[in-house]
Amino acid sequence: LSPVHVVGGGLAGSEAAWALAEAGVAVTLHEMRPVRGTKAHHTDGLAELVCSNSFRSDDAEQNAVGLLHQEMRALGSLVMRCADANQVPAGGALAVDRGGFSQAVTAALEAHPLVTIAREEVAGLPPADWDSVIVATGPLTSPALAQAVQEITGEGELAFFDAIAPIVHAETIDFSVAWRQSRYDKVGPGGTGADYVNCPMTKEQYEAFVAGLVAGDKVSFKDWEASTPYFDGCLPVEVMAERGPETLRHGPMKPIGLTNAHQPEIKPYAVVQLRQDNALGTLFNMVGFQTKLRHAEQVRLFRTIPGLEKAEFARLGGLHRNTYLNSPKLLDGRLRLKAEPRLRFAGQITGCEGYVESAAIGILAGRFAAAERLGRTFDVPPQTTALGALLGHITGGHIGVEGEGPKSYQPMNVNFGLFPPVEGPIRAPDGSRVRGAQKAQAKKRMLTDRARAALASWLGGSPSPAAQAAE
Ligand code: FAD
Repeated sequence: LSPVHVVGGGLAGSEAAWALAEAGVAVTLHEMRPVRGTKAHHTDGLAELVCSNSFRSDDAEQNAVGLLHQEMRALGSLVMRCADANQVPAGGALAVDRGGFSQAVTAALEAHPLVTIAREEVAGLPPADWDSVIVATGPLTSPALAQAVQEITGEGELAFFDAIAPIVHAETIDFSVAWRQSRYDKVGPGGTGADYVNCPMTKEQYEAFVAGLVAGDKVSFKDWEASTPYFDGCLPVEVMAERGPETLRHGPMKPIGLTNAHQPEIKPYAVVQLRQDNALGTLFNMVGFQTKLRHAEQVRLFRTIPGLEKAEFARLGGLHRNTYLNSPKLLDGRLRLKAEPRLRFAGQITGCEGYVESAAIGILAGRFAAAERLGRTFDVPPQTTALGALLGHITGGHIGVEGEGPKSYQPMNVNFGLFPPVEGPIRAPDGSRVRGAQKAQAKKRMLTDRARAALASWLGGSPSPAAQAAE
């Protein structure tokens, strides 16, 4: 069998190569460092962590990323094995000695008899005789490859700067203040005329909010980021606020075409709108609220918006350079490029966000490619698992109300809002009724219990890589 080619030896590429090799499939891993560097990597190690050394919470009962850790371990993840072996104290988080971690991943791949590591840039579309390729080149994909991918996917399908607006868990919005209505009750494709959530502001509230945006503590651009262009029309909300006190009221916060369902006689002075962000309707993004405010500042300020006083954020806003595909449009359910199925994508380039998520998608891409090479089937994980929820977000779980396009799909960490809601009443493990914070905990426990059961039955039908290799 000819090798599968994995391009990029970061978090996703390392996992993909490992999954392939453990399944008995030869793999060539092409990593351009140290021949060619990126603006964020500092070493030639595989799976280098470019910023924080944390894999976030390891709590598999109350935290979606902790659950993802657990599922990855069950799939034989190299990244999790090396992270566990190189842990440093970090409370409930899984943090690692970054050097030790990267060296362990590199050593494991170098030692694997089915892995060949080629230190070279794939500076364009992979050669036509590579019949199975996993592109895992990350947010800092080299320009030559990024351009080639852009050419086959179509102009504008490879985003170069993500404008991230905060995303709120719908169940934490106070609907005794907020109401659902589309502007002018407009009914778009698949819509109902009540597609948006609206949060009203008085003149005093609006002026205080704008002053808060202008004064807020912001993250500064790195030099190399400063020259990267914004998408049209995605200026940070605080930049719009700085242009004048009325700018937002005539932009994303305009109140026209909206009637407060709770107080129809009082016209709101300004309105913050939130738009459904996933097919399940569990997440809503704040329209036009891409921001470079620091995270703590966002939480503080956005909770002053009427109706969002108790908002919990699935993701906070941010602006940084990023290269990612409009995956729900371009990729099939097994991460293959529809236009050229020999190319599979994995990691942050698919629009997941974070080390753990990138590695998790790397495992799935490796497993899909291995099964294809071996002529076997490998079912996609159920959406009730963390792996399945994340894959669903990437390959089609997301909806863009304004239609498909790069602006309607944004990178996201794994979170419980990507999971289908639990059915029936929320109860404690002993069956008793729960309220308040206990209810939120009980719900997470029900989601994670359901995920574990689903993973077990899915793995029951999907042999482990070692078992596959032995067959
Ligand atoms: P990467 O880990 O970036 O791996 C891609 C690899 O592909 C690199 O080794 C690169 O050298 C190689 N490559 C690129 N182009 C080519 C080519 N043409 N040929 C061959 N090789 C190529 N996530 C977090 O969870 N926590 C953080 O604190 C965090 N901070 C970040 C800070 C910055 C500045 C950036 C850019 C990202 C940050 N991220 C963070 C996101 C993080 O990069 C990704 O989540 C993760 O590293 C993505 O994994 P990946 O495997 O997709 O890409």
